[in-house]
Amino acid sequence: MSRYAEIIIDIAYNKLDRPFTYRVPERMQEVLQPGSLVMVPFGKGNVLRKGYVITLKDDCGMDPEKVKEIAELPVNDSGYSEDDDGATAIALAAWMKRRYGSTMAAALRTVLTSRKPGKPVKTREIELILSREEAQKQLEIYIRKHQVARERLLRELMEVPRQPYSLITGKLHITAPVIRAMSLAGVIKVTEEESFRNPVLFDKADEDRKELSEAQKAIVDGVLADFDAGKSTVSLIHGITGSGKTEVYISIIKGIVDRGRKAIMLIPEIALTYQTLLRFYRYFGERVSVMNSSLSDSEKADQWERARRGEIDVIIGPRSALFTPFAQLGVIVIDEEHEGSYKNESMPKYHTREVAEELARLKNACVVLGSATPSLESYYRAQDGTYRLYTLTERLTGGTLPTVEIADLRQELRNGNRSILSERLQQLLEDRLERGEQSILFLNRRGVAGFVSCRSCGSVIKCPHCDISLSLHKNNRLVCHYCGYEQPGVKECPECGSPYISGFRAGTEQIEEHLKIRYPGARVLRLDADTTSRKGSYDKILSSFANREADILVGTQMIVKGHDFPGVTLVGILLADMSLYAGDYRAAERTFQLLTQAAGRAGRGEVPGNVVIQTYQPENYAVQYASAQDYEGFYKEEMNYRSLLLYPPAAHMLCVQLQSDNEDRAESLAGRLRELFVRDDPEVLVIGPAKGSLTKIRDQYRYVIYIKDVNYDKLVRCKDRAEAFYAYLVKIGKDPQVQVQFDFDPVSPF
Ligand code: ADP
Ligand code: ZN
Ligand code: ZN
Repeated sequence: MSRYAEIIIDIAYNKLDRPFTYRVPERMQEVLQPGSLVMVPFGKGNVLRKGYVITLKDDCGMDPEKVKEIAELPVNDSGYSEDDDGATAIALAAWMKRRYGSTMAAALRTVLTSRKPGKPVKTREIELILSREEAQKQLEIYIRKHQVARERLLRELMEVPRQPYSLITGKLHITAPVIRAMSLAGVIKVTEEESFRNPVLFDKADEDRKELSEAQKAIVDGVLADFDAGKSTVSLIHGITGSGKTEVYISIIKGIVDRGRKAIMLIPEIALTYQTLLRFYRYFGERVSVMNSSLSDSEKADQWERARRGEIDVIIGPRSALFTPFAQLGVIVIDEEHEGSYKNESMPKYHTREVAEELARLKNACVVLGSATPSLESYYRAQDGTYRLYTLTERLTGGTLPTVEIADLRQELRNGNRSILSERLQQLLEDRLERGEQSILFLNRRGVAGFVSCRSCGSVIKCPHCDISLSLHKNNRLVCHYCGYEQPGVKECPECGSPYISGFRAGTEQIEEHLKIRYPGARVLRLDADTTSRKGSYDKILSSFANREADILVGTQMIVKGHDFPGVTLVGILLADMSLYAGDYRAAERTFQLLTQAAGRAGRGEVPGNVVIQTYQPENYAVQYASAQDYEGFYKEEMNYRSLLLYPPAAHMLCVQLQSDNEDRAESLAGRLRELFVRDDPEVLVIGPAKGSLTKIRDQYRYVIYIKDVNYDKLVRCKDRAEAFYAYLVKIGKDPQVQVQFDFDPVSPF
């Protein structure tokens, strides 16, 4: 029996980021564990604060008179009596604190989000109340009347007669009026129940299982063999969309579950489609659960509670599902592992893949990564043998790969075509409109950095020190967001002397306008941050397009993920250059991924598709390799560049981020930190300080310093030095009043 507990107070002050000792009251003796969430009196006023139990001990280690007592468990006491795995969670938090330079409290908050109390919730479901024959008749009526949405819902329910309301409206894009109408017509019934249950209710249906191909089977066998040998390996599956990766994940998870262990299946929220979920439900029935942002906090807590109690074997969800409290974790699968959303952008700025690896190590579990366009990080590790590499090269559904063409916008300008659409794209668009097929026009706008390019020769103004495109600021200065280099804006192209040099500004709205004027008969939909700001509008636009209620969909990268539109036979990428010059070192990689994925949107159905990539830089390697669908080629060339300039994964990079409402303070501290880093270790490469790519947000001025080195530990030392220096300034009464954060191997510019 432990009479004392060391507790980290859940508070943002660095100064308090150390354990405090408390007495454990009698009634909590049985239930407290490392990781337990408690309320404790804190400070002079004994205000009740949340805290996390780190260790339990018998020895007080200080004057017992001065020790306060834990006040309460915020949950009913039984909440933690199960076989919870708090000790691993704390080890993981400690690792994150060190690796990402956050406070222990912030790391614990992240890792232990799942320790919040669960309450029974209301689950709404939709149930088919017609018999098989009646349903079939009704279906024919809907088809005759072209009531597409009703037809779709009915078909779904004929397969699985009872499904959660939120799934139907969310992932299947069925609107509330449609549900109301069908319910009034006596086709379906909406039910409400209070329970701890899964948000999904399915029976297992074995008939859907596929015989795995040789290549698929080899992967499943390989991963399970490693697992059985007790090795905590990471495997990377490189396979184009439709090559059967998901089927492989399912079989691996099945193998792990058969061995009595649990599985975490991570999928980026935006790619977490209804169809994908359904495949898992068919396999694992109610032993699988889903976690996503459409669930309320208490619904989430419910799922975690079920995981803790061992009621489920598999959890599917985005980043945060990694922290599901499975005591018997056996595998973590990360689909679309290259996705930027796996990087957490608030403290601790962790990368899901790295945390997954550490968690797997602690649990002796294995990690499986999958992507059609693996991140350079992962592929690099696959090359050097740290990861196991598996490849899937064939599409199993038939469906031909699209024909990809590049339209040279410089040539268009020379031919006198100043429109946003190249000749070739216009031609194909008109052809699709005539044939009644659908098109997607994609503007890969990203971030705010406005690069400046020449419309005659395609060259882009770059930083002479970093080989990164300069960004145009409002005062007509061109700025590098890595090193701070600045120069005045230009009136003519330094390469060819053309006056057609400027920042590219056309947005989705202008393109929509342009299309409406040019093709008055066409039905155009737009999907971007503006049109989707209202809740539910994202799904509404996509469902209306999926229902063929429009001919052309114009949108940002939001449209390239997750959704299948079999009616789409043309994809136009309006300006590939847009993401090429986003002003950060991952721009080419991101462009390659976006182009490859956008291209994959065409020709999912029977009709082969066309893709047109418009660009001022047809010779750019990211554009070239994407149009040739050549990942290896791209990887080699991009790695050359990263090695040359010491960008990750060839080296590691630490971004020190400073923010203050007082610009001078931020700038001055940045300067002093730079000196400190350089003096401390003359071997690390210190770049900057520079203004952040967003120079000011909410009246906070932003500065960055980048530090590069092949040795990660050196960067950690720089971070420790910066923290110690800051603490010292505070101690001598010179608090810099600047917020300092650390981002290791950053994914997006600050
Ligand atoms: P990915 O996850 O790589 O996009 P999926 O696993 O979704 O690929 O597979 C793509 C399609 O191929 C799906 O419709 C799936 O049902 C089908 N499929 C996968 N494996 C097989 C197989 N071994 N035999 C037949 N069809 C398969
Ligand atoms: Zn030029
Ligand atoms: Zn620079």
